Amino acid sequence: MNIAPNILLIYTGGTIGMIKNFETGALIAFDFDELLLKIPELKQLDCNIDTISFKSPIDSSDMNVARWQELGDMINSAYEKYDGFVVLHGSDTMSYTASAVSFMFENLAKPIIFTGSQLPIGDLRTDAKENLITAVQIAALQEKGKSVITEVGLYFEYKLLRANRTTKINAEHFEAFQSPNYPPLVASGVHLKIYKSFLRPVNRRKKMVYHTHFDNNIVIVKMFPGINERILRHIFSSDAIKGIIIETYGAGNTTTKEWFIDIISNTIKKGIPVVNVTQCAGGSVEMGKYDTSVALKKVGVISGKDITTEAAIAKLMYLLGENLPLKVLKTIYETSLRGEMSEN
Ligand code: ASP
Repeated sequence: MNIAPNILLIYTGGTIGMIKNFETGALIAFDFDELLLKIPELKQLDCNIDTISFKSPIDSSDMNVARWQELGDMINSAYEKYDGFVVLHGSDTMSYTASAVSFMFENLAKPIIFTGSQLPIGDLRTDAKENLITAVQIAALQEKGKSVITEVGLYFEYKLLRANRTTKINAEHFEAFQSPNYPPLVASGVHLKIYKSFLRPVNRRKKMVYHTHFDNNIVIVKMFPGINERILRHIFSSDAIKGIIIETYGAGNTTTKEWFIDIISNTIKKGIPVVNVTQCAGGSVEMGKYDTSVALKKVGVISGKDITTEAAIAKLMYLLGENLPLKVLKTIYETSLRGEMSEN
C-alpha cells in the first residue's frame, strides 16, 4: 500500500500570500489558515498538507538572521514527522534565505522547496498557483518510499533550481530566478522531468545535523573603477568586522594599486577572512589567471570560485558562526559543502 507523503507548508510572507482588498485595491496579508480553501487544487494532490506560518509574516526585505533561525527551527522540529517541506517566501531575498537554510541542514535527506510569486495568489493572472502546486508536488516526489529530492531547492516558473545556486534577476518577469552556474534539477512541462544526475546524492546512514549559528558581523565591498582608498581604509579598520567579501571584476580581478593590496593583506594578517566573489552572473573566480589577481592569491584571499554572492554571504556567516581558525575556514570555504560551488 502506498502511503501519501506528509508535507509541511510554511508561510513566511511575501507577495504570494497577499490578496487584493476589492474595496481599497490595496494588497493585504492573506489569512493563511484559509489557504487550502482558497486553492482547492491542493486537495487533489496525492499528499497530506499541514500548514504553519510566521507569527507576523514579512516582506522578505525584512529577512534577517533571527528569522532564518525561526524558519530553521520550524523545519528542524518537524523534520521527523514530515517527508518534505515547502517554504513560501518573498522573492526579493529568497536566494539568501534558501542558501542559509542549505547550510543549516547538513546531511539533509528530505526536500526543502522554496517558492513564491511575482503576483499575489488572489490575482487573476497570478503565477502563485502553478508555483505552489508544483513545488508541493516536487516536495512529495518519492521512489520506493524515499524522497527523490534531498536538498534545498527553489521552484519558480517551471523550473526547480538548486537554491544555493540561484539569484533573483528580474523584478518584472515571471521567470525571476536564474542559476547561472548549475543546471536545473527538475523541469515542469506536461510531465515533471527530473534531471537525476544533477541531484545532490544523499547518504541516509548519516544523521541530519542542524546548525544554527550565523555570525553577521560581515561586510561586502563591491569593486568599481575609482574606488576610494580613504573610505576603504575606514571600512576595513572597523573592529566590528569579522569577515569581508570583495565582489571583484571578471575572474576575480581588482585594482593592482599597492594601497589596495596593503589593506587586504593587513586585514588577513589580523585573522579576518577575505572572500573573493565575482560580480559576473556566471563563471568563476580564478585567482592568478590575470596579473590583477596574483597578489590577492599571495596574501591569502579565499576563492569563492563560482559561488553566488547570496550563497557567499550565507556561507561566510555560517562558517564564522562555527568559530574556526582562519586556515581551516579558508580550506572549508573553498570546498563545496552543499553543492553551492563547483569542485575545481
Ligand atoms: N517584496 C516582496 C518580498 O520579497 C516581493 C515578493 O514577494 O516577490 O517579500
